[in-house]
Amino acid sequence: MNAVLEIEDLRIGFGPLEAVRGIDLVVERGQTHCLVGESGCGKSVSALSVLRLLPKRARFSAARLAFEGNDIAGLGERGMARLRGDRMAMIFQEPMTSLNPAYTIGSQMIEVLRRHRGASRAAAVDRCIAMLERVGVTAPAMRLGQFPHQLSGGLRQRVMIATALLCEPALLIADEPTTALDVTVQAQFLRLLADIQRQMGLAVLLITHDLGVVARVADRVSVMYAGRIVEHGATGAVFAAPRHPYTRGLLASIPVPGKIPPGGRLGSIPGIVPRIGAGFAGCAFRARCAVAMPACAAPVPEHRLADGHRFACHLGPDGAWSGA
Ligand code: SF4
Repeated sequence: MNAVLEIEDLRIGFGPLEAVRGIDLVVERGQTHCLVGESGCGKSVSALSVLRLLPKRARFSAARLAFEGNDIAGLGERGMARLRGDRMAMIFQEPMTSLNPAYTIGSQMIEVLRRHRGASRAAAVDRCIAMLERVGVTAPAMRLGQFPHQLSGGLRQRVMIATALLCEPALLIADEPTTALDVTVQAQFLRLLADIQRQMGLAVLLITHDLGVVARVADRVSVMYAGRIVEHGATGAVFAAPRHPYTRGLLASIPVPGKIPPGGRLGSIPGIVPRIGAGFAGCAFRARCAVAMPACAAPVPEHRLADGHRFACHLGPDGAWSGA
């Protein structure tokens, strides 16, 4: 195993809310690990915690938080600032979150190289042009003089990924990077991400609510619900034989051409992700689960299958009451 990021028992809280309740996650070099779930399930705050970008009021703890084998849970702000944008990079759904509208593309990209690499201005300009070219931005030298609002959404996304990759990070965290893009640009972006990942051997942690994106790019998938990972495994295994009722519900909600007759209804999961407070016990999905039993209010057992496939449910791998 060549783990770039290792997380054990990550917990995040805000006031009375337990947003993340003990998740374990490993992202390996050259691998895309998708964290999937509905809004409010805790996936974005989990990612932000890796970069230590949580709001000050957040409670945060982890039994282990290691990056390239080194424990970073206790690393101070100075050490984290050195890692961010250098060995670890993050891209967001909306490029304007990370691109400053008041500065040109060039000044923002060059600043990254000058700060992290101490590069001369001329060397930084050359590197920025090369990176923009690499991610398919046309007329890259001219783009350096443009402001973010002068670019299309797809181009802004490419500039954002070029900026994130300038220092050749080991880990790229992408939070819903394709949600704001139309379908064709989304497909181009996912292809670009896959190409770059292959070339650079990047570890990618991709956060999404879109199982179509997961199917296209993920090596491994973790399905998150109400602050916990309820199912994890190799993407093919989870899609072929989902074990957790929530994963099954999500997969049944994907439209499959030819399988859903015109006017037919897609699967859906009624209700919303609950907000969990301290002292909550049992399965957080039970108010929405079609097969919930009274016993589901008791602590939930975890079942381990082949190749790291695991899920947390009172139903066993055969779908029968596990008796735990
Ligand atoms: Fe449904 Fe119970 Fe399994 Fe939760 S533990 S997913 S309520 S069967």
